[in-house]
Amino acid sequence: MIDVQPEVKKKGVFSQMQEMEHEQVVFCQDEHTGLKAIIGIHNTVLGPAMGGTRMWNYATEEEALNDVLRLSRGMTFKSALAGLNIGGGKAVIIGDARKQKNEIFMRRFGKFVNSLNGKYYTAEDVNITMRDIEYMSMETPFVVGKPENMGGSGDPSPMTAYGVYMGMKAGAQKAYGTDSLRGKNILVQGVGQVGKYLIDHLIKEEANVFIADIFEDKIKVVTDKHASVEVVDPNTIFQMEMDIYSPCALGATLNDDTIPELKCAVVAGAANNQLKEEQKHGEMLKDKSIIYAPDFLINSGGIANVYHEYLGNYNKERVIASTEHIYDVCLDVLNYSEKNNISSHEAALALALQRIEDVGKVKLGQ
Ligand code: NAD
Repeated sequence: MIDVQPEVKKKGVFSQMQEMEHEQVVFCQDEHTGLKAIIGIHNTVLGPAMGGTRMWNYATEEEALNDVLRLSRGMTFKSALAGLNIGGGKAVIIGDARKQKNEIFMRRFGKFVNSLNGKYYTAEDVNITMRDIEYMSMETPFVVGKPENMGGSGDPSPMTAYGVYMGMKAGAQKAYGTDSLRGKNILVQGVGQVGKYLIDHLIKEEANVFIADIFEDKIKVVTDKHASVEVVDPNTIFQMEMDIYSPCALGATLNDDTIPELKCAVVAGAANNQLKEEQKHGEMLKDKSIIYAPDFLINSGGIANVYHEYLGNYNKERVIASTEHIYDVCLDVLNYSEKNNISSHEAALALALQRIEDVGKVKLGQ
């Protein structure tokens, strides 16, 4: 999913870094391969910056810079709230992934990552494959999310889905006074990598699952496995009555047009940046008394997965336990939001910032 801000800032690099509180931004250029990349390091108070590399044909360099700044900042809050001891980082490569990427290109990028000496750990993101991960690993040890046959943690999507399931149960607990999803009407929008694994958990709990996707083959994977799932038209989902809406496709589906239409008690999904405008749309959900499980909290199972690979001796049971913790953190966030009469998104940000500040003091011995 790419959700480049439509309004790309025209400010200078330092003004943008200052405004978004970035520590360091690294511009990488290689004449031989034509590589152009930007590494954004937002905050390393909790530990080294960690976040994937995405390759995209950005229309302008400003758009690429805007994307990397926004994404790396998001990683800081995601990892902080998930209780991980890593900071926020992200990288973008500017160009056409189908035409420009090859072994040398990716190894060259790996070399740039290596030059930061472990201040930034990369992983996969949009248009970066497991093969690219292997190429980068040839030049640097600062890569996570490696394939299992390389001793890595493999596909993070099942863990992301498990975390979303935990967040959804916490949302249900807040809305209904019970976290059972049995008999609840749940719409999963987007049944790709995360959506399809999420549905396994929902079916196991005997929820009534409705699905929407724009591709038939994705739908078929789910309906072949679970006959009880009902398929709905992706264009009419906001007209549906449902208990829980789970956005697992694109960002910005919670906006001026959809929120007034939305007929559900809980929103809990995997998609990044679900609120088109964080403050405004977080408030709108609160005003409608819809429980919103913040996206960057409940989709943190994937980063927890690679974090445990980084810690060494990767152990799935430990990651599952860490991901289950999303349930408690989500309830804390929802209660904090209620107590302080702020949106749950704002509450999640406040608790993430608090942890960074508190741990920072511990580190400084204050
Ligand atoms: P994916 O590309 O595998 O799946 C997305 C699905 O959404 C696809 O099946 C696609 O056809 C469908 N889709 C696209 N537009 C749609 C529309 N308008 N209506 C309905 N369906 C539509 O991606 P994924 O890995 O499953 O990730 C889903 C979301 O979760 C993304 O926003 C991603 O950034 C976020 N996320 C994923 C992970 C992870 O571990 N994979 C981690 C954190 C966040």
